[in-house]
Amino acid sequence: MFNIIIFGPPGAGKGTQSAMLLEKYQLTHLSTGDVFRANIKGQTELGQLAQSYIDKGELVPDEVTNSMVEDFLSNHQDANGFIFDGYPRTLAQGEVLDALLEKSGTPVNCVVALEVDEDELVKRILLRGKDSGRSDDQDEEKIRTRFEEYRTKTEPLLNYYEAQGKLSRVFGMGTIEEIFNRLTTAIDSAQQA
Ligand code: ADP
Repeated sequence: MFNIIIFGPPGAGKGTQSAMLLEKYQLTHLSTGDVFRANIKGQTELGQLAQSYIDKGELVPDEVTNSMVEDFLSNHQDANGFIFDGYPRTLAQGEVLDALLEKSGTPVNCVVALEVDEDELVKRILLRGKDSGRSDDQDEEKIRTRFEEYRTKTEPLLNYYEAQGKLSRVFGMGTIEEIFNRLTTAIDSAQQA
């Protein structure tokens, strides 16, 4: 198994790059944001729980998110490995992920963090909101709340992986192809390590 985590603030391009990485490395994608949105659309109990947080731009509570991830992993036991996109987002989630992966005898192999200028991201997200209909992408105040959540809750997690020698920071501006090449360079060197 080979497991990758992709970090980056909202709008950094995690979803776009994950889709390309999946194909190249034959991995299974877990986007917690996508799973929440599918549950909201399907009006499940989980969707109802998550919706109020997502609407405000806040993180969904760890217990809710972690148990969803646990279910996902137990339903995909024959995967080659995973790309975690949007998870973990807090130190507590990172510790739970380690414990869950340990059960299947596999570690987090490689962590990549996209770095993009915040003003550029706000522009991208507002543009995306026009097409996608995502309500959390249409209001600048909610977008700023999501950045604040990223800075205060998610960035500390980068230190956790940096201390383990797993983190590569990747410049996230340029064409999709340029960014993809930077990511695969980082991943390939982790794969050989
Ligand atoms: P983005 O990274 O552009 O904000 P996502 O689709 O990854 O988009 O996430 C959308 C929202 O879903 C987040 O703002 C948050 O409310 C919720 N969410 C997604 N993943 C998590 C997570 N791991 N923990 C808590 N909340 C999450």
